[in-house]
Amino acid sequence: MLPERVRTDAESGDWLFGRGTMDMKAGLTVQLSMLERAMNGHFDGNVLLITVPDEEVNSRGMIEAVPALKEIKHKYHLTYTACLNSEPIFEKFPGDQRQYVYTGSIGKVLAGFFCKGIETHVGEPFSGLNANLMVSEINRLLELNVNYCEMADGEVTPPPVNLMQKDLKEAYSVQTPHTAVTLFNVLTMQRSARKPAILFFSCCHI
Ligand SMILES: [Zn+2]
Repeated sequence: MLPERVRTDAESGDWLFGRGTMDMKAGLTVQLSMLERAMNGHFDGNVLLITVPDEEVNSRGMIEAVPALKEIKHKYHLTYTACLNSEPIFEKFPGDQRQYVYTGSIGKVLAGFFCKGIETHVGEPFSGLNANLMVSEINRLLELNVNYCEMADGEVTPPPVNLMQKDLKEAYSVQTPHTAVTLFNVLTMQRSARKPAILFFSCCHI
């Protein structure tokens, strides 16, 4: 059952629905139409359109594109002056009608923790330290913790969110997991990645 707002939008005929419509087909459409205008002489300068896959997983596209961009720059003696990224915009609150243009960028740190506990047999639980307990404790401290948000020019970063958490056991057994990993998305505005002061706490109780 569709939420009321979605149904109203769908029935209005003013909205396009479909997989990837917002991210990233709409952006590509805008870029192609800008390129068309530039080709027809409505822009004084050079425009380079680059489209890359895999944005939300391992960024293979952008990582591969960087050397190509450098090569094009040298080959054609270009000076890159601006980069327009036509990612979608987001509501600040439900029903927000404003259309935003984002400037600048945001820093991202993928904070990873490897926890090493002590293995034990399930029948002797107090003889070991379960690595899943350790990653759970880190998760409890970090997930959605607004103390780690950063504010700059009226913008607030989203709080840390866990992106992956698992023990490293390869198969089921009655031995407790003694290694586990957890990864957190931490966004920054002014804070340097070199000094992630927020993440200094001990996770090792051995
Ligand atoms: Zn996107």
